[in-house]
Amino acid sequence: MLPAHRIPTEVTAACLTLQESGFATYVVGGAVRDLLRCPDDDTAKDFDLTTAATPEQVIAVFGRRKVIPTGIAHGTVTVLCERPSGKPHPIEITTFRGEVGFSDGRRPDRVEFITDLIEDLRRRDFTVNAIAWDPVAGRLIDPFDGQGDLARRVIRAVGDPVARFAEDGLRVMRAVRFSAQLGFVVEPATRAAFAGALSTLRKVSRERIRDELLKLLSSDRPAAGLRLLLEQSADNPTLDWGVEGNMLQVVLPELAHLLCDAEQVEPLLLAVESLPKEQRLGALLWPLRQWLAGAGAQVAMVPRALAELLDERLKLPVSGRQHLLALLTTPLVAAELVPFLHGAALRRLLAEHPAALLDDMLAIERAYAAACGDAEAVARLTALTRRIVDERARRPALSMAELALSGKDLLRELQLPPGPVVGELLRELLATVIDDPAQNDRAMLLAHAKNLLSARKIKH
Ligand code: ATP
Ligand code: MG
Repeated sequence: MLPAHRIPTEVTAACLTLQESGFATYVVGGAVRDLLRCPDDDTAKDFDLTTAATPEQVIAVFGRRKVIPTGIAHGTVTVLCERPSGKPHPIEITTFRGEVGFSDGRRPDRVEFITDLIEDLRRRDFTVNAIAWDPVAGRLIDPFDGQGDLARRVIRAVGDPVARFAEDGLRVMRAVRFSAQLGFVVEPATRAAFAGALSTLRKVSRERIRDELLKLLSSDRPAAGLRLLLEQSADNPTLDWGVEGNMLQVVLPELAHLLCDAEQVEPLLLAVESLPKEQRLGALLWPLRQWLAGAGAQVAMVPRALAELLDERLKLPVSGRQHLLALLTTPLVAAELVPFLHGAALRRLLAEHPAALLDDMLAIERAYAAACGDAEAVARLTALTRRIVDERARRPALSMAELALSGKDLLRELQLPPGPVVGELLRELLATVIDDPAQNDRAMLLAHAKNLLSARKIKH
C-alpha cells in the first residue's frame, strides 16, 4: 500500500482543488514509485501531478500569480503551492498526454478520465514509473503491473520496448540509470531492445544524455550501470571493443575508443564505484590522462577531442570544466620521487597545486591502483596522502598572502618605488619560508629582503 501520509498536505490539497473544479488529478511518476519502494523514509521527492485540466485551466484554477509556465507547449506548468510553514512548494502539473483527446474539457465522466489517465500512463517509459495515485479515492491506478515489477525489482518498458526506444532514444539511458539507482535488473526483452536503440540515442541532445550520465555516476551502483553501457550490441556480437556498437560509444566516444578490453575496463569501473560521487566523473575519464600524456599534450594546447568532450559534450560549469581539465592534464608525482617528498619538497608540491586538485588526483590514482590490485602503489599513495594531511595540519605558509610580511610592508619599510621588484622579493621570501617555515617572521623576512636587495640578487 502507498503510505499516503508521506505525501505533503499541499500536494494533496492541489489535487483536491483541481478535482473540485472538475478536473481529475493524480500523483504520478517517480514520487509514487519511491513511496511504494521506500514507504518508511523520505526518498520520494518531486511530487508530479497529472491532470485532465489544460495549462490554461490550471492557471485559471490557481491564479496567474501562483503558476509558472514551465513548459506550456508540453502541457506542463509549475504551481507554487503553500506549505503549512508558509514556504512555497513548486509542483509540476502536466496535462494528460496520450492517444485520447482531452482538450475539450467537457467530459466530467470519471470513466473517461480513467481512460485518459491510462493513455497518459501508457506513454510513460517504465512500468515502475507508470503508476498513479488518486488522493481523493485513496487508490492506486496501475494498469501495467508496476507494483509487480517493483516487487520483482525489474525495469520493464511499458509496451513494446523496441517501439518505445525508437520513439525516444534517451529511454535506454534512463533504463540503465534507473537500474543503477534502484538496484533493479533490466527485464530481458527491454534489455534486448537496447542494441537497436543506438541510432535513436545518437539523435538525443547532448544535455539530456549528460544529465542521465551524471545521475548514473552519482547512483549507488555506477559500475553495474556502466557495464550495461558497455554491453555489446547485436551489431557487434563479439564484443570487439574497437567497433562501434555499445552505448558508451554514443555517450562518451572520447573515452570509449580508449577502452580496448575487459581487463582494462573492470578496474576502471571498480575505481569509479569506490570513490565519492564528486570524484567519479574524473575517475571515469582517467584513461584520457594516459592518452593525453602519451600525446605530450599541454594545458595550453588542449587536443580537440578533449575540448570537444568538456565543452560540447559535458558542458560543465566553468569551475567544473577547469577542475576536470587540470585533473586530466596535470602530471602526477613520479612514483620514484614519492619517498623523497618530505618537508620542503612536500610543501613545494602543496604550494604548486590547488588542494582540491591534488586531493582528487591522489584519491583517483589510489582507487585505480587498488582496483588493479597494485598493493605497492596503494601503499605509496596512502603514505603520501597521510604526509600531506600531517603537513597541512601544521598550517605552513604556502602563498604570498600567508607571509608574515606584505607587499605594502616592503614598500614602506624599504622605501621602494612600486614596481615588479616587490613581486620578485615576495616570491623569494615565499621560497625561503617554504624551505623553512620558521622563517615566516616579520623581522626575519624584512632582514632577508634587505639582504637580497643589497646583495643585488634582486635589482631595482
Ligand atoms: P527521478 O527520481 O530521477 O526524478 P522520475 O521517474 O521522477 O525519476 P523524471 O525525469 O522526473 O523521472 O520524469 C517523471 C516521469 O515522467 C517519469 O516517472 C516517467 O513516468 C515520465 N517520463 C520522464 N521521461 C520520460 C521519457 N523519456 N519517456 C517516457 N516517459 C518519461
Ligand atoms: Mg522526477
